[in-house]
Amino acid sequence: METQKGLETFRAALCRRHLAVTSQRMKIARAVLEAQDHFTADALLARLKADGARVGRVTVYRTLKVLLEAGLVEERAFDKGRVAYERALGRSHHDHMICVTCRRVIEFESARIEREQRRQAQACGFEVLTHQHTLFGHCRGCRAKRGNGSKA
Ligand SMILES: [Zn+2]
Ligand SMILES: [Zn+2]
Repeated sequence: METQKGLETFRAALCRRHLAVTSQRMKIARAVLEAQDHFTADALLARLKADGARVGRVTVYRTLKVLLEAGLVEERAFDKGRVAYERALGRSHHDHMICVTCRRVIEFESARIEREQRRQAQACGFEVLTHQHTLFGHCRGCRAKRGNGSKA
């Protein structure tokens, strides 16, 4: 249902840019709209290829750009030079914690942080368009493996 709506939005976005609605582009869009995780462009490409799709790297990148501009996917700066994507349609705002050892992504949402942020921005006369919080550190599992994890 949601995917279908997303595909329609994507199709319209292609037309607006005078890009052809090809089966490859639709396949990429579907994979993105159905993704349940945070993924890089290369991981998406590998996933599509594993599924037998004949898509190239350039097409994947270009399609992600169209999905981004159409607000169907969000870009996350999780790593130095490594951008992750996640489906935006049908999802509410949230922020992330990233384990620098195993790359695990934990999502969190705090009404208090959101509120405080708006307050700070307002005090500075700043209009917020979008924001991202990403906390980097060690997840519970990796801390336990290292043997110095305090009970949290
Ligand atoms: Zn970890
Ligand atoms: Zn997320």
